[in-house]
Amino acid sequence: MEAGGHACTGALAGALTSSAIGGLTGADLGAAGTAVGALLGAGAALLPDLDADGATAYRSGGPITGIVGEVFQVLARIAYRRTRMPHDPAGDGEHRGLVHTPVFALVLGLLVGIGAQITQWVTAVVMVLVLAPGISALSRSGPRWVRRVLKTHRDLPAIAFALLITAGLSMSGAMADLGWYAGASLSVGMIVHSAGDSATRSGIPWCWPLRRPCAKCAVTDAGRCRGARWRRSHILPEPMRWRVGSKSGKRIERVIEVVCLLVVAWLLLPDLAALVRDVA
Ligand SMILES: [Zn+2]
Ligand SMILES: [Zn+2]
Repeated sequence: MEAGGHACTGALAGALTSSAIGGLTGADLGAAGTAVGALLGAGAALLPDLDADGATAYRSGGPITGIVGEVFQVLARIAYRRTRMPHDPAGDGEHRGLVHTPVFALVLGLLVGIGAQITQWVTAVVMVLVLAPGISALSRSGPRWVRRVLKTHRDLPAIAFALLITAGLSMSGAMADLGWYAGASLSVGMIVHSAGDSATRSGIPWCWPLRRPCAKCAVTDAGRCRGARWRRSHILPEPMRWRVGSKSGKRIERVIEVVCLLVVAWLLLPDLAALVRDVA
């Protein structure tokens, strides 16, 4: 899946997560809660592709996201080298490896949640790093007039908006309670990314670090093979998977983008109504 599809599915997941957290815990994230949740989810759903140079998220924050990306890639290569089995796919395991696994998403979210308990700066830095690519990718998928007016599809305005939202949350005193929420949004967004990739023909190693029968020997010689850890799996049956970047693939992803954005807009309605009531 390409950046637009990831950002829009992530935005929907993020908006639903913040509604659910609000409903379950009674936490009042304010009228902007769903919107911030959507933006966080969109950004988090771009993060796994930091394991590929040149991806939207990799380029979005200039040297900062570049450095995070390089660290992710080193971790991915180490994890692959340490845990690969003889029949695992060839290569260095960098792209669509460790950083695309649910285990990595959950650990990263947990670390952010724990870090946020130590200092709010963790939440603030993560917010900016995640919001900036989310804002620019969503602006590229959304209606054209938003792009014309706000220019948020460009990196600098997107970073400026991310800083603005983070500063706003900090000044309203909300930042102190947002640590676990930011961590949870991060994990959910990243797992939604992996689901998106495994709806296409690419697939991701869902089960790492568990061992599964390898693709080659599962049929022929089940006894001798020790299985594979990095075998990629999918969430759609084979005929329904599309090839990333193909004409029909782009069409399918565009439909997914529009549907997700419409549902997010619908989820935002109660918040907007509350805002209007407050102002009036
Ligand atoms: Zn990916
Ligand atoms: Zn095998």
